[in-house]
Amino acid sequence: MGKRRARRSSGKRRGGSGAEGEGSKRRREGETEEDYCFACKDGGLLRCCDYRNCHKAYHSECVEKDDNFLNSDEQFICNWHTCFICKGRSYYRCFCCPDSSVCRRCARQAEFVPVMRQTMGFCNNCLRMANMIEKNVDVDSDGGRVDFSDRETYEFLFKEYWEIVKDKERLTLDNIQEAYAFSEEA
Ligand SMILES: [Zn+2]
Ligand SMILES: [Zn+2]
Ligand SMILES: [Zn+2]
Ligand SMILES: [Zn+2]
Repeated sequence: MGKRRARRSSGKRRGGSGAEGEGSKRRREGETEEDYCFACKDGGLLRCCDYRNCHKAYHSECVEKDDNFLNSDEQFICNWHTCFICKGRSYYRCFCCPDSSVCRRCARQAEFVPVMRQTMGFCNNCLRMANMIEKNVDVDSDGGRVDFSDRETYEFLFKEYWEIVKDKERLTLDNIQEAYAFSEEA
């Protein structure tokens, strides 16, 4: 099994770049919204979150909206900014997914792992996958098996997305291992 596939090998990705119509009017100077849906990690027609400095983008169906969503003027604030437990404002946000943000109070209950005591970090699930990718294994410490090379899976897309996030956030293997060690202790 080829462990290291070339990035961007999937043809169905990046559908959005050519056909971006109105959605791009929301692009503000000096900002780069992401080309991948933060929820499912696939490309296509996406709309960027309106929250200040949030560059995460989403498919309408991934945020349970209809197609009007892409061009709608209605403000869209993604789940990244809301605590998924108490629905208050989030304090910690996962590097890799929108649905695991928590406030400080709920962080322990959610087993959220901040990286270097900052407000960004990992939810359990993303940390587990990131750690497996970095270690280049497909079985985690609990024996759970994940096939990162199967293009039909979320894990495959996650892996591609992970490489991008890692670059962008300048995450190192040390960050991941430290976070992982911390999560295993808890
Ligand atoms: Zn999506
Ligand atoms: Zn957002
Ligand atoms: Zn909360
Ligand atoms: Zn996550």
